[in-house]
Amino acid sequence: MIPEEVQRAAEILKPARRVMAFTGAGVSAESGVPTFRGAGGLWEGRRVEQVAAPEAFRADPLMVWKFYEERRQGVARVRPNPAHAVLAAWQDRFAEWTLATQNVDGLHQAAGSRDVLELHGSLWRVRCVSCATEREELVVPLPQMPPRCAVCGAMERPAVVWFGEFLPPGVMAAAQAAAERCEVLVVVGTSAVVYPAAGLVSIAADAGAKVIEVNPAESALAALAAVALRGPAGELLPLVDRRIREA
Ligand code: NAD
Ligand code: ZN
Repeated sequence: MIPEEVQRAAEILKPARRVMAFTGAGVSAESGVPTFRGAGGLWEGRRVEQVAAPEAFRADPLMVWKFYEERRQGVARVRPNPAHAVLAAWQDRFAEWTLATQNVDGLHQAAGSRDVLELHGSLWRVRCVSCATEREELVVPLPQMPPRCAVCGAMERPAVVWFGEFLPPGVMAAAQAAAERCEVLVVVGTSAVVYPAAGLVSIAADAGAKVIEVNPAESALAALAAVALRGPAGELLPLVDRRIREA
């Protein structure tokens, strides 16, 4: 069954000119980055919604920073996997390519992807809560917790999108425009329940794009998918890539 689906995915992708990929936590699972909703989903007894939220940061910024510092340290120890590598290679295969991710881990860029649309921000950027100056912060562990703004001295926060916050408008608009234009949308490792990012899939499908899904589990978007590759992305995407290059 799997080789047949791989073949179908390759047949859809091979002639395509405008291709978009949309990824979630599952694309990084084989690198060893835990997905939120798996593994109990708790951090020190708290649900992520109680940590990754503006109210949590207002009440206890150090607690929130400890959570993000742990995630930064975790990601700093891991490497991109073959799924990230294939998606990075595809930016040079198709005439138009867009990669939008819900992940904050930076592993797509580590694999060589350029111009990644980070819908939920990045663990590797921080933003001043007072003057909104944003900067890259790659040092692990953080030299100072919480970090402070060099411009105004106020506290900085992780430049990630928290529960109840808006997505960065320019980034979301770019992703929506790409979803409307693409002929093929490859959705990798997302349960597609977090809106508005998950709405990208319906935008693409409504505009006539073929949707290829890569997820070992049945997801909410199975009904929209022309092809569902049921298995780990790090194994199946390299198979699709090889078929495209052979066929
Ligand atoms: P999710 O945790 O809701 O879903 C992950 C999906 O990945 C599941 O459907 C699962 O079946 C699938 N999956 C698991 N292993 C896989 C594999 N090897 N190959 C392909 N798919 C696999 O994640 P989500 O949909 O991305 O949404 C959760 C939110 O949590 C997002 O907002 C995201 O920002 C955040 N998050 C990010 C990271 C990260 O940056 N790596 C990690 C955890 C959560
Ligand atoms: Zn500042």
